[in-house]
Amino acid sequence: MTLVLGIDLGTTYSAVAAVDAGGGPVVLPNRMGEPTTPSVVAFTSATEAVVGRAAADALPHDPDNVVALVKRQMGTEFGMRFHGVAHTPESVSAIILRALVADAHAHLGTSGPVRAVITVPAYFGIREREATYQAARLAGIEVLELLSEPVAAALHYGRGGAVLVYDLGGGTFDTTVLRIDPAGACVIATDGDPRLGGADWDERLTDHLVESFVRVAGEPEHEDEFVARTAAAAEDVKRAMSTRLHHRTTLRDGTTAVTVDLDRDTLRTLGADLVERTLEITRRCLRAATERGVPHLDEIILVGGATRMPAIAEAVSAAFGRTPRLVDPDLAVVLGAARRAHQLAGAGTGTARSVVPRSFGVLISDSHDPDGGRVVEHLVHRNDPLPARSTVRLGTILEGQRTARVEIYEQAGDIPSTRVEDNRRVLDGVLTGLPNTPAGTPIEVTLDVSADGLLSVTAREPSTGVELSLRAYVDGVVDSAASARLTETVAGLTIGQ
Ligand code: AMP
Repeated sequence: MTLVLGIDLGTTYSAVAAVDAGGGPVVLPNRMGEPTTPSVVAFTSATEAVVGRAAADALPHDPDNVVALVKRQMGTEFGMRFHGVAHTPESVSAIILRALVADAHAHLGTSGPVRAVITVPAYFGIREREATYQAARLAGIEVLELLSEPVAAALHYGRGGAVLVYDLGGGTFDTTVLRIDPAGACVIATDGDPRLGGADWDERLTDHLVESFVRVAGEPEHEDEFVARTAAAAEDVKRAMSTRLHHRTTLRDGTTAVTVDLDRDTLRTLGADLVERTLEITRRCLRAATERGVPHLDEIILVGGATRMPAIAEAVSAAFGRTPRLVDPDLAVVLGAARRAHQLAGAGTGTARSVVPRSFGVLISDSHDPDGGRVVEHLVHRNDPLPARSTVRLGTILEGQRTARVEIYEQAGDIPSTRVEDNRRVLDGVLTGLPNTPAGTPIEVTLDVSADGLLSVTAREPSTGVELSLRAYVDGVVDSAASARLTETVAGLTIGQ
């Protein structure tokens, strides 16, 4: 039987849900009976890995063979090696996915193929989305759709109107304005920071705890181990502080023990600039939404485990004059993904519309510029509704030019810019077989970004119909030989918990 799942592949925690016989989405607990699984992999040998809580527990003792926060590396060429075997962000994510799927099967008592909606942050670009697809493929999962996390959360809440989703997860922050109506959810504007999340509060707290220890007892004797242990404890301390005003924790190094008293104000001060960064990004997103005709919000929804920190709701409420809703912050995304997966696997109806996460354009050389000025002309723009399609008519530069190179760039920074260095190349190809024509012969370049964010490009010479089609999403993400090797590596691993 084919299993249809919603999967939230989170930076720090992941979760799986499915629609049950009653038609409602339910979270499928892991083998330990927990609703979420730490997105951590520990390589215990060349052929064995452990995923989840046990892997997270192994991190302080064996940091060289344990990977956490791998989602931050998605879409990069970050290489890793464990027990002599090469890994990539895709293969490590695939191992997490395999463990999640195995647990879902174990919980339901099923086996067989899996089709899934996997959620990704709204601001994930083509590279990161492609890396997520790769991870799913390596894990043997058929991807029904990569769904933007705030859209998933909105699908779960299902209330109408203009909604701001403020999503502070373990390692990523994103903020999105959506309009929800009976036809589905439509993203109006989105913004975010892929390197900002609960883990930053853990780091601040770790530094504070280590400094507090050093002030009383001097430098720890076993420093690396001490810092690693304190870092592992910091997250629990942070969570405890969400429900308590004070917390006392004892740090040990050999026979030395130091007790540190913490209160909520200390944590608030440690993270004040981090909160301000999220508010600044949220303001930017609201400005973009206003420009797109959504000046008022009906609701603010807090999503992501880190929004349980009381300082977040307080700051959001003070900044935007509205009390935010904090319901199921850890599970809204996965439950929405399960609903969407059920929809797609069943009727195949599309109700979730999203926007282009970053601007895309074509590299053009200005033949009138004596320096051969090269700029990126964006054809589809950040926050354009998906699917998006745009065509530009360019001209050949040289007399009798037989080939034309087509290079597609994606906006790299926060603000779209035509400067080549502010963009990164995502596709590259050569249109060949051009007729022997004068300079200025038109070439039509069409960019198409599909509903789930995949980019395809065609370059066409209209008089002959000679055409170049580019569909390999990106430069530099795993090539097919490496992909075959990684599939073998991932499939060959015994994965435990
Ligand atoms: P997510 O990526 O949405 O699973 O969020 C995970 C992040 O939420 C991690 O940084 C957790 O430490 C954090 N988190 C989970 N529960 C709490 C809590 N009760 N208080 C503060 N942070 C929490």
